[in-house]
Amino acid sequence: CGIVGILGRGPVAPALIEALRRLEYRGYDSAGVATLEDGRLTRLRASGKLRNLEEKLAGHPLKGEIGIGHTRWATHGRPNETNAHPHANGKVAVVHNGIIENFRELREELMAKGHVFSTQTDSEAVAHLVADYLREGTTPQAAVASALARLKGAFALVFLFDGRTDLLIGARRGSPLAVGFGEDGAYLGSDALALAPLAKEIAYLEEDDWVVVTREKTTFFNAAGEEVVRARRPLQAGS
Ligand code: GLU
Repeated sequence: CGIVGILGRGPVAPALIEALRRLEYRGYDSAGVATLEDGRLTRLRASGKLRNLEEKLAGHPLKGEIGIGHTRWATHGRPNETNAHPHANGKVAVVHNGIIENFRELREELMAKGHVFSTQTDSEAVAHLVADYLREGTTPQAAVASALARLKGAFALVFLFDGRTDLLIGARRGSPLAVGFGEDGAYLGSDALALAPLAKEIAYLEEDDWVVVTREKTTFFNAAGEEVVRARRPLQAGS
């Protein structure tokens, strides 16, 4: 129900939690974060309040300098820790807002190819679909582009890749997503409020856009895969 991604210059977990707190107003039933610890995907998730996730983090501090976070409003699968986002499979982790309408079909197809599903969510199919393209040897960027072409429904998505400490990819169709630009890094979030304390400037993805974000460069694409320009505007502190 709220998503955030951060490419920072120090441990990002505290800022992920802070951004998720600013998205609390949207309502949620569980929350989670994923970072790269020594380059490897690591997740922490908890049902219930953000406080529960914070308590877990206190016991297992994450030092990753890139990460994604999510507050979930369950649509498919019970609100418990197993079904909490991010969803991951060793190669890629994803946070998702919205509904993947053709998830059953994708799930069957991917299970037939050997992918093992561990949740009841619609969202998990997206992680396996991208992993399936990665397994064929495509780049993260090409894998996401291919996956987006297969998805039906409404979504905002942010992807984090194993071993890729300077890359987040975001996509939107039906659910809002913005990119924030700050002195200490680059950010993705559901709305300006999530990014307000972190970013100085903001640019919104338009319908069907996807975006490749590194600390130095942000590149927007439309559904046809053509590079497009999206206006940046200043973000008022405290807005
Ligand atoms: N449909 C997804 C789920 O139930 C995402 C829900 C959301 O937007 O939080 O896990």
